[in-house]
Amino acid sequence: MEALNIHQLRKTYGAGVEALKGVDLKVQQGEFFALLGPNGAGKSTLIGILTGLVNKTSGKVRVFDEDLDVSPSRVKAQLGVMTQELNFNIFESCWNTVNFQAGYYGIDWKEASRRTEQLLRDLELWDKAKQPVRNLSGGMKRRLMLARALVHDPKVLILDEPTAGLDIELRRSLWVYLQKRNEAGLTIILTTHYLEEAEALCNRVAIIDQGTILRDAPMRDLLGQLKKQTFLLELAESATMPADDEQIQYRTLDPLTVEADMAHGITMNEVFERLIRAGVKVQSMRPKANRLEELFIDLVGKKSKGLTA
Ligand code: ADP
Repeated sequence: MEALNIHQLRKTYGAGVEALKGVDLKVQQGEFFALLGPNGAGKSTLIGILTGLVNKTSGKVRVFDEDLDVSPSRVKAQLGVMTQELNFNIFESCWNTVNFQAGYYGIDWKEASRRTEQLLRDLELWDKAKQPVRNLSGGMKRRLMLARALVHDPKVLILDEPTAGLDIELRRSLWVYLQKRNEAGLTIILTTHYLEEAEALCNRVAIIDQGTILRDAPMRDLLGQLKKQTFLLELAESATMPADDEQIQYRTLDPLTVEADMAHGITMNEVFERLIRAGVKVQSMRPKANRLEELFIDLVGKKSKGLTA
């Protein structure tokens, strides 16, 4: 079943900027979907249309068979949205912030309170329930936004750059929670230019650039189509590398650091075995760049300024 069906979506802003140039996109129920693209690609515009903040110029949007043009409020009720900017009343308590939101969706007080408690506990905010929002740290505010986005139990959660500005530990704890919710059936759509995030979380990815979808595919297919991967090897002692062949090419950066370009399909084990046979002692080996970054370069033939992990 389709959670989201976007057909020929266009948005031209007043000044004549074509932010979306006929986007087609389908997200299946239960997917963890990444909308990946550099700054200015059109991601926020697309999310804005879904959430009613931006009026589309033309095209169709359906969320679980509800048409945005026919029943915008029913579309809205099925969506939970966590935006980039923190739009709270900072003097309100955490409890009220989440609980009042449930009220907007017509959920009765008892059920709203049950959900509020559950979410605040799950997102490790329970001990802050009575505190005003302004007392929270940046990471806590983000989690509170997530609690507020989920309290009406939406079928689709939309996250616009959810972990921008969060340190790595907070980012990962948020990932764990989102993965749990996704496994329990929640469809999640994430916009990001943190490539690592899309790769870690999402099973499907659409790449958007300049208002056009460049690719839309399962994550593993996209990663699998990479022509080559570059790995960075640290050697335990300086050594002469084996001769290059079609599958692997080496570049020595300094006596203990070597880059290896590997054709797709070669496993790390094969590389290690070759190196051992050649008498090279490898201390560590890791991908040089995020593979989605390399993929983006493959697709558009250039490095994108907004795509730095
Ligand atoms: P992203 O979220 O991928 O960074 P946006 O959807 O914000 O991309 O922007 C897409 C394009 O539309 C950009 O060229 C941007 O400058 C333009 N744009 C966004 N919002 C407006 C607006 N309110 N008025 C005019 N142009 C806009």
